[in-house]
Amino acid sequence: MISQLTYEQIIEKIKKEKGLSEHEINSRVNEKLSKLSDLISKQGAVHIIANELGVSVFEDYSGKDFKIEELTEGMRNISFYGKLLKIDAIRSFNKNGREGRVANLFVGDDTQAIRVVIWDEPIIDNLSKGLIPSGSVLHVVGGGIRQNNGAKEVHLGKGGKLELNPKNISFKNVVEVQQRQVINKKIVELMENDIGVSISGTVIQVFEPRFYESCGNCSKKVEIRDGKSFCQTHGFVHGELVPILNMYFDDGTDNIRATCFRENVAKVLGLSMEDVKLLKDDINAFERIKNDIAGKQFTFLGKVQKNEMFGRKEFVVNDIQQVDPVIMIKEIEVRI
Ligand SMILES: [Zn+2]
Repeated sequence: MISQLTYEQIIEKIKKEKGLSEHEINSRVNEKLSKLSDLISKQGAVHIIANELGVSVFEDYSGKDFKIEELTEGMRNISFYGKLLKIDAIRSFNKNGREGRVANLFVGDDTQAIRVVIWDEPIIDNLSKGLIPSGSVLHVVGGGIRQNNGAKEVHLGKGGKLELNPKNISFKNVVEVQQRQVINKKIVELMENDIGVSISGTVIQVFEPRFYESCGNCSKKVEIRDGKSFCQTHGFVHGELVPILNMYFDDGTDNIRATCFRENVAKVLGLSMEDVKLLKDDINAFERIKNDIAGKQFTFLGKVQKNEMFGRKEFVVNDIQQVDPVIMIKEIEVRI
């Protein structure tokens, strides 16, 4: 997406930059329309004329420095000051025969933090040589703003600039964590690999919880060797019992299989973690509560994952909020 000017704004810009009258521009537009047998719109025609005259139809932000919070999707040629928080990764790619490298940085100012994606080889070269260390103050010049999974990103291509330690710029309080906007979706709208999404609905069926042992150090699943817990990284460890709960969750548009872990299992079941762990060896206890779980309403925050074996989408729950019944009722009214 690029932020384009309206018909009227383009006319204004041509008038200002080329000294043509409105009448003159309109007659050129009409000429273009009849020449192209009305195959294009008026907007399309004025674009062509602007291009012929060398007038940019994009809003030009060059020369203005923004705060990160002011950057919005579609802006081009923006610049801002920020502190380099982290060089996340420099990767090689080979896409459609095009080879190159891309670098991911995190940069923050006193309003927000943002990911900066760099496609310019000379800048990437300087980064990989350690010439632009973390903690540096940067002037990022000539970037465009895109949206990626609910977070905005700056993309800096060829012609972009990363100026190191600009004069008279310093930051006292730098925001270090990138804000990811949680996107509320209906289940029917969920896409594979969606992350940072929330869905609100009702548990319609819940399955018996399962348990696995995880490493007390790194939380990864352990294997059992000689009856003891063994972590690939940490060797024999004190294992921790982790519950997993699968359920069907419905919001009226569709239903989806949802999976939650650890404390979120306790939240859905309405039990303490100790009581959840007791369910491992007491199947009857679960049978007694499972009918009370169906019908409970929650807002699940998490991501969508494809289950390759069954070829279906599943929702992995990272966090749970109780649904405010008033909001839920309003949403239902709106839908009706
Ligand atoms: Zn471990």
